Amino acid sequence: MASSANILRTVTLSSCLSVLLGGALRGQEVEPRLDRLTPAYVRDLVDRSIAEATPLLEQILAVRGTRTVENTLRPYDDLLIHFNAVQIVGLLAVVHPDSAVRAAAAEGTRRRGAFQAARRLNPQLYRALAAIDTAAADAETRYYLARLLAEFRRDGVDRNDSVRATIAALRDEQRRLEQRFNENLRLDTASLAFGDTAELAGLPPDWLQTQPRGPAGEIRVGVGDLRFVLQNARNPESRERAAIRLQNRGAPANHFVVDSLLRARDRMATLLGYPTWAAYQFDGMMAGSPRQVERFLDEIQRLSEPAVTRDLARAPAVLGEHGPLRMSDQQYVAYHKGNAQSGASSSALVREYFERVRDAMLHLADTLFGLEFRAAPDLPVWHPTVEAYRVFDAGRLAGIAYLDTHRRTGKLPASSTAAIRWGVSSRVLPRAAINMSLVRDRPGDPGLLGSEEVAGLFHEFGHLLEDLLAVRPWFGTSGLPVEFDFREVPSIVFERWGRDPAVLRSFARHYRTGEALPDSLVAALRQADELRSGFGIRGLLFRARLSLALHERSPGGDIDSIARALRDATIPGEPPRVSTHPEASFTHLVGYEAAYYTYIWSAVIADDLLSRFTAGLLDPVTARAYRRAVLEPGRSAPAGQQIERFLGRPFSLSAWAHSLDDP
Ligand SMILES: [Zn+2]
Repeated sequence: MASSANILRTVTLSSCLSVLLGGALRGQEVEPRLDRLTPAYVRDLVDRSIAEATPLLEQILAVRGTRTVENTLRPYDDLLIHFNAVQIVGLLAVVHPDSAVRAAAAEGTRRRGAFQAARRLNPQLYRALAAIDTAAADAETRYYLARLLAEFRRDGVDRNDSVRATIAALRDEQRRLEQRFNENLRLDTASLAFGDTAELAGLPPDWLQTQPRGPAGEIRVGVGDLRFVLQNARNPESRERAAIRLQNRGAPANHFVVDSLLRARDRMATLLGYPTWAAYQFDGMMAGSPRQVERFLDEIQRLSEPAVTRDLARAPAVLGEHGPLRMSDQQYVAYHKGNAQSGASSSALVREYFERVRDAMLHLADTLFGLEFRAAPDLPVWHPTVEAYRVFDAGRLAGIAYLDTHRRTGKLPASSTAAIRWGVSSRVLPRAAINMSLVRDRPGDPGLLGSEEVAGLFHEFGHLLEDLLAVRPWFGTSGLPVEFDFREVPSIVFERWGRDPAVLRSFARHYRTGEALPDSLVAALRQADELRSGFGIRGLLFRARLSLALHERSPGGDIDSIARALRDATIPGEPPRVSTHPEASFTHLVGYEAAYYTYIWSAVIADDLLSRFTAGLLDPVTARAYRRAVLEPGRSAPAGQQIERFLGRPFSLSAWAHSLDDP
């Protein structure tokens, strides 16, 4: 979902397992002491991991005679396993409570990135891998090697020395700018003041009670809660102010960071022989080219037209008489259209039923996929509120999961899932962490969740399950699918469980009375799904078009006018009164870059996959088939092949388009 700023999808490290390394460095890895991290300790972890990887690389290059899978690809894969053991610094850079540790981790992430980039630009290494004889290898190994060589070429390994040096410098510049972008968002935490509870009428009482107050009694709403205001405040002025504050988060500083970042990306793409960054980034994805993505987005816009018309027709009844529809009214309309009479929103009402949502989610993982999550309070964690679990598959330890769901100062108010360490069959236990800012730890707060938060938690849990299940014999075939635009499929599929009537009834109980979730609320929950409502899909479409257009602009093209034109062509209603800089707070510009369309693309595939659950979403037989065909293959086969294995045909848009039809 839009809430999942997946800046960490590429992150991954640390293990309490001893991992046997190939060649020179057989031995035990040190287990990072997650509960006692210091900046010096983090720096040392990174130093050692880089220092130890270097001789492994030299060992690969020193092989004489015929190059084989065993004497070249195997040690290369061992090198990746070894390097992956410190990937946790990427996560620590955004979640650790100590800013000095975060800074050391961010610096370590940059150094690791530079080492990785140098490896990918090493022509001797490329020649060594290209010389491997794979005639006798299995299909997974052949696919791995062919893909690896294509990635090396795409990144410029066959260019001359000076071009390669420029590419490495541009990569480093991009990493610095990306970290500055996130840092600016982290620092921009100023809350928005609302004069009295009347300005926030429509927000649930338990929520209002726990908001901090200013000296004059004003209610101070933090940036992490403004979306909730946008969805629930009856006062249109309050919604407008929340929308403007949210869009201008990180501005003006990030406006300039984005501008520099786009220039650096454009220079690198051009240097590598691509017309734009989007063309470079999409090479190797399912969609393949910017042209294909534009066609897809046009089709989505066309298919969503009737649903937008319906939402526009409903808006006056929901909003009452307050003049023309504004863009800042859309979420309110989406969340209230089923309850126009009562004025209550689905997101406000259902929150009273979700106290047990986490346990229900873990229980579902067992019912559907046979994964048992056992609380592991003995495992060290980076903050006392982080929950650790050992995950068992048919009684066998299969991974470690962390849920870091509490709000903290210094933690980005965005949701993501980080593979801390990719699993390798019989060698490395996978570890992954969900990073969200859900639980507020305030006195008197019962810790209830809104419908969007529940969906967001299920979404991230879908990522976590894939991180734990995509474990292959090779490090290089484990983990997330090669095609970036396939990566939101498992999360959007699992999100559907969090919105399914049968599933909701099975766990949603009122936190005080124990009463089951009424049918009217089940229906309301469905309506608030961004991917299934006319207004919702246009918001996603705008961000998808913006992410693409910014990476296809000619150098010097003005970001503000590009954003304005796309917004006005995609989202119905009056634009904000003051100028906004949506790019400044667009967290996906780091990590997703030109490919925000991935969310819609993956949602279309997810709905198609779910159409096979004809006996209901709780059918374990189909769920196990889905696990085998989609969650387990990791990077071992093309995404298209995984879809066809499960559906028996390529995917189509019809299941998703049908979901937009009004019930
Ligand atoms: Zn996601």
